[in-house]
Amino acid sequence: MCICVDCKWVDRCKAYHSVEKQHGVRHLNLSPDFEPNQPVIHISLIDPQNEKDLAEIEWDVQDCKSFSLESGRWMRLRPNQTLPS
Ligand code: SF4
Repeated sequence: MCICVDCKWVDRCKAYHSVEKQHGVRHLNLSPDFEPNQPVIHISLIDPQNEKDLAEIEWDVQDCKSFSLESGRWMRLRPNQTLPS
């Protein structure tokens, strides 16, 4: 799970904006203005359900010196939507 969903900077953060782009999801903010300090992005390959499909790539921020806990920040910005995984 990406730690950004519980970070107060999530809707202003340039690193999270990149993660959204890689996942092909709608951006929280088209013009993020916050540069985080040393985010560590973990990239993992997920095997396809069947051999005809391509493997999926997951991008998650797992550590970041700028992380500032605000539990449920993403969910408050996007009520009634599924949390990105
Ligand atoms: S944890 Fe870091 S990369 Fe993620 S939203 Fe917060 S400041 Fe940005």
